[in-house]
Amino acid sequence: MLSLRDVSVSYDGEPAVREVSLDLPDGQVLAVLGPSGSGKSTLLRAVAGLEDVTGGTVAWDGRDLARVPTHKRGFALMFQDGQLFAHLSVARNVGYALRLRRVPRAQVAGRVAELLDLVGLGGYGDRLPGTLSGGERQRVALARSLAVEPRLLLLDEPLSALDAGLRERLAADLRRILRAAGTTALLVTHDHEEAFAVADRLAVLRDGRLVQEGEIGQVWRAPADTATALFLGYARVLTGPAAALVLDAAGLPAAPALAVRRSALSADPAGALSGTVRAARDTPGQVRLVVDVAGVGEIDAVAGLGRPPAPGEAVRLRVDPGRVAVIPG
Ligand code: ADP
Ligand code: MG
Repeated sequence: MLSLRDVSVSYDGEPAVREVSLDLPDGQVLAVLGPSGSGKSTLLRAVAGLEDVTGGTVAWDGRDLARVPTHKRGFALMFQDGQLFAHLSVARNVGYALRLRRVPRAQVAGRVAELLDLVGLGGYGDRLPGTLSGGERQRVALARSLAVEPRLLLLDEPLSALDAGLRERLAADLRRILRAAGTTALLVTHDHEEAFAVADRLAVLRDGRLVQEGEIGQVWRAPADTATALFLGYARVLTGPAAALVLDAAGLPAAPALAVRRSALSADPAGALSGTVRAARDTPGQVRLVVDVAGVGEIDAVAGLGRPPAPGEAVRLRVDPGRVAVIPG
């Protein structure tokens, strides 16, 4: 298994990754989630051996990899733009590393067909990359990365170049494919939806430091701090009396801060909070409200499509305790 201990990487004395410790057991998918510039690619490159660590160790099964060059680590890398060879057919792209290893032709052909089936591109072998959609190209890149059965797959924002709908579908496919192949993978991304859709575990990186790590649901339900909560997709973090009011309405014990999802508050005549609707906007599944709640201020809420309250109307709001998270400290 992969294990990082106090890994630091600096560029010209400027730290990009600071004392990161992580373990990734075999067969698991870990997403490192962080904003742009937080050190995600640097961390991945250090694991791959493309960047020297300035402190700490990267080890595999307890063996320090410091002196093991990239091509001997048994890891595969995949980037945002799959970087396919444009002049080679899909099949030749996927089989590239196998041919380099002088695997017999018939065996390469069989393995390539198997991999193309795995990524849902059976029959695409003769196509050139230029004739494929962005999503298909990323599937080919994935098949190529898996060809040599890497003991670890490193994915750097593999879906970020795709448009939203496709990204969502491919994220689900990626999870299924990694599961089916039993691949151990380390994925870095700035997109929490992508991380949630693909990974088993989540590590949150900020300014080169690991701020939280755990099973996805556990991180989601208990973000370590305000910045992490907002980065995970919570709409707002309430503090002081506003937090106290909403916590009480949710039937939760008092806490200094509370992260709320956009859909945590919903219009309900039996709700514990009361306020005045300031804005209402139709979306396909529900009406999004902005409600001025006494003691809280303006806050997002939702209403069903049936007969939603209009601006100026008084409304009562219910708090869904499953859509809020208490933030420590
Ligand atoms: P992310 O992938 O999370 O966007 P990076 O790992 O690319 O972040 O970058 C982390 C920090 O290191 C940034 O401040 C970036 O400017 C810096 N950095 C990245 N690569 C280099 C490099 N080759 N030389 C100097 N600084 C770099
Ligand atoms: Mg990056």
